[in-house]
Amino acid sequence: MPFKKVQKIGVQLKQVKGTATEASPQIGRLVGAVSHVNLNIIRVALDVPLATLFDYTVAEGVAVAIGQRVIVPFGRRQMVGVVMECVATTEMAPERIKAVKQVLYDSAPLSAELLGLLRFCSDYYRYPIGPTVLSALPTRLRLDKPIISKVILSYRLSASGAALDLDTFPKRKVVQRRILAKLAEQPCNLVQLKSLSATAGAQLKVLVAEGWVESDALATSLSPACGGGEQHTFDNAHTLTDEQQQAVDAVTAAQGYACFLLHGITGSGKTEVYVHLMHSVLQRGGQVLLLVPEINLTPQLEHYFHNRFPEVNLISLHSGLSEGERLHNWQQAQAGVAQIVLGTRLAVFAELPRLALIIVDEEHDSSFKQQDFLRYSARDVAIFRANRRGVPIMLGSATPSLESYHNAQSGRYRMLRLTGRALAGARLPAVRCININQTVMHHGISENLLREIGQRLARREQSLLFINRRGYAPVLMCTGCGWLSGCKHCAGKMVLHLNDQRLRCHHCGYQLRMPHACPSCGNADLLPLGSGTQRVESVLQERFTEARILRVDRDSTRSKRAWQMMREQIHANEVDILVGTQMLAKGHDFPALTLVGVLNPDGALYSSDFRAAEKLFAQLVQVAGRAGRADKPGEVIIQTAFPDHPLFLALQNHDFEGWAASQLAERQMAGFPPFMYQAMLRAEGKQETGVYAFLNQARAAAVALRLTVEILGVVPAALPRRANHIRAQLLIQGAKRKDLQQFLCAWQPLLDALPAQKLRWSLDIDPLEF
Ligand code: ADP
Ligand code: ZN
Ligand code: ZN
Repeated sequence: MPFKKVQKIGVQLKQVKGTATEASPQIGRLVGAVSHVNLNIIRVALDVPLATLFDYTVAEGVAVAIGQRVIVPFGRRQMVGVVMECVATTEMAPERIKAVKQVLYDSAPLSAELLGLLRFCSDYYRYPIGPTVLSALPTRLRLDKPIISKVILSYRLSASGAALDLDTFPKRKVVQRRILAKLAEQPCNLVQLKSLSATAGAQLKVLVAEGWVESDALATSLSPACGGGEQHTFDNAHTLTDEQQQAVDAVTAAQGYACFLLHGITGSGKTEVYVHLMHSVLQRGGQVLLLVPEINLTPQLEHYFHNRFPEVNLISLHSGLSEGERLHNWQQAQAGVAQIVLGTRLAVFAELPRLALIIVDEEHDSSFKQQDFLRYSARDVAIFRANRRGVPIMLGSATPSLESYHNAQSGRYRMLRLTGRALAGARLPAVRCININQTVMHHGISENLLREIGQRLARREQSLLFINRRGYAPVLMCTGCGWLSGCKHCAGKMVLHLNDQRLRCHHCGYQLRMPHACPSCGNADLLPLGSGTQRVESVLQERFTEARILRVDRDSTRSKRAWQMMREQIHANEVDILVGTQMLAKGHDFPALTLVGVLNPDGALYSSDFRAAEKLFAQLVQVAGRAGRADKPGEVIIQTAFPDHPLFLALQNHDFEGWAASQLAERQMAGFPPFMYQAMLRAEGKQETGVYAFLNQARAAAVALRLTVEILGVVPAALPRRANHIRAQLLIQGAKRKDLQQFLCAWQPLLDALPAQKLRWSLDIDPLEF
C-alpha cells in the first residue's frame, strides 16, 4: 500500500468540514421494488487506501439500499462509492458528517452475496475494503456519473417525473420531452427510446441525472423465461466414456457445496465433462461461471461453447473487452440473463443471482492469482464463493496444483479421474530426453532434434519448439574482458533482440542500441550467450531454408489480431515449424502437430523458487499434450543436461501421481505449502537502508506478538533490484490458516503504524512468486 498517500488522505479527512448541504431533489424518491432501509446514515466503501468505511447522511425519505452506488463529497472532490451499511448512529461529530450528493438508481444494487464475498476478500487478503469493493466493478460503474445501459434495464418516470406537467417543460428540449411523453405511456429500454431520436441516449442520461427518469433497479424487464428451467438445443457431440459419465454423475448428484477435482490427462475430454454439467445446470435454469486462466483462450472457448449451446446466452468477462462491452456483459450476468459466464480471474466477482455451478479450468495456472493491489487467487475465491452459496465447484487440470491435489487426497475435495484419452486411438506422446552434453549442438539445438524435425518436414507434419525465453539471446558477453550486458537499473541482464539490434531489459523495459564494441574494454568481439525464440528461429531458417517457420511470443503477437491470424495459419497447415514460449503451451489444439522439442528447461531444476519444478512439470505436460492429438502419434524430445532427473522420468512415464507424491513428501519435510500457509511482506524503495530497516522493524513487531507462526528472516527478493528500487521480503508461515490469519490481524495495524517514508510495501497472502 502506498503509505504516503494514506497519510495524506488521513490529513485531508481531518480537514474535511461537514457542510451538510441539502440533498438534491433527485434523491428524494422511492425506487419501486428495492427493499430499502430508511435510516439516516449510510456507511460507504470508497476507493481510498484506508481500511474503513465512510459515513454520510441521507435526507429523510430518500430510498437507499445496501449495495447501491452513491456519489459523495470527499475532501474537495466527489467520488462514487458503494453503500455497505445503513445505520442509525455514527461516531463522527454531527457537524463533520456530510450529505450524500446523489444516489445512483441507474443499476441494481450489488447483492448481499457479492458484498459478503468482497468483505471476505478484504479481510483475508488484508486489503482495504473500499478499493476491494470498487475494483470488482466494471470501470463504467466506478465513475461518478450515472450509466445508461442498452438492453437490460428499462426506464420509467420517477415519482417527480410522473408529477411533472409536460406543458411547463422547456419547449426547446424536444428530445427530452419526447422521452418523457413516451415513458408516461410505458417503461421502455434504451433501444426503444432510440427509435424516438438518435440522441435519445445522451438526453436520457440528462433526464436520469436530473432525477426525472429512473431505471428499473431490479431489472424486472427480463424475459420471464429466464427465471425457471429452460429448453435449449444442446449439441451432444459425444457419448461420454465411463469415466466422463461418472464425473458428470458425481457433480450432478451433489447437494449443495462440494469441491471436485477433475484430474484428467490432456485430451481426456475434460471439456466434454464441463459441457454436460453446464447442460444439466442450464436445464434447471441456473447460471454457470467458467473461469479460465488466459485471456487468449477466451475467444476460442467462447466460440466453442456457442457451438455447443447455440441458443444459450453466453457472455465473456475479461480485461480485453472495451469498457462498454464489459459493463454490458456484467449487467447481463447481474440481471441473470447471461446463462454462461466465461471469464478470466476478474469474472469471479461477477454478480450471478442464479449461480448454480462454478468450473475452474486449468486450476493450477498461476494467472488465477493477481500479483498486485488485491492479491487474490480467483480459484480460491471461487471455492469460497461456491461454499457460501451452497453450489458445487469443479477444478479441472491435467496437472493439478499440489494444494488441490493434496486436498483431494485428504478428502476435503472429491477426486474425479479421467485416465485415458477420449478419442479412440489417440495415445499419449512418447517422451524422451537428449543429453545436451553428449550430442552435437547447433546454437542450442541438438543434431538429433534437427533430424527429427527434418523427418516431420518430409512427412508434411508440424513441429513445435518450446523455449521459455523471448529475444535472441538472454545476455551479450565480451570475449575479451567478460563484460555482461547487465541492466543499469536492475539486478538482471539485458536481453539481445537481434531483429531491431537492441538490448532490452525484460524487468524494467529499459533499452539500448546493441553495442558494436565492448563498453568496458572496447573489444569488438561480442558473443550472444544462450538462446531465445529469435535465435532458434534463425537457426532453423538456416538449416531448413524451405520451411515455413512461425515464431509465437509476446513480441510477435503484440496486436490482438496477430495471434488470431497465426492460429488460423497453423490450423490451415500453412506452418511447418512453430517456435514459441508458453503462449503455445496452453489449451490449443493443433491437429497436424506430431513433434514437440523442449529446449533448455533445466533452469527450473535448480531454481530458488520451491514451486519451480511443479510449474515446469505442468508446463511440459501441457506442451507435450499438443503433440499427437488426432490420429497421428506424437513425440516429445527434451534437451537437458540431467536426463535422469526424476522430473523427466515421471514425465516419460506419464506419472503425475508418482511425481506429486514425491513432491508432496519433499514439501512436508521442508515445511512448505500445502503443509504450511504463507504470507509474504514485500518492501521496495530507493534506499537500501530504508527498505531493510522497515522489514527488520516489521519482523521485530511480529516476533513481539508471540503468536503461533514461524517468522523467517529478512532476505533480498529474487530480483534484488528492479528499476532502481531495492527489493526485499519477509516470509511468515503458519501450520493452520487460522493461525496465520490471527497473526496477520494483529500484525497489520503495527505495519500501518511503522514509519515507511519513500518505500512501498505490500502483504501477499498465499504468495506464488518468490
Ligand atoms: P481435455 O480438455 O481433457 O484436454 P478435450 O475435452 O479437449 O480434452 O477432448 C479431447 C478430444 O476428445 C476433443 O477432440 C473432444 O471432442 C474429444 N472427446 C471428448 N470426449 C469424447 C467422447 N466421449 N467421445 C469421443 N470423443 C471425445
Ligand atoms: Zn570487454
Ligand atoms: Zn532493468
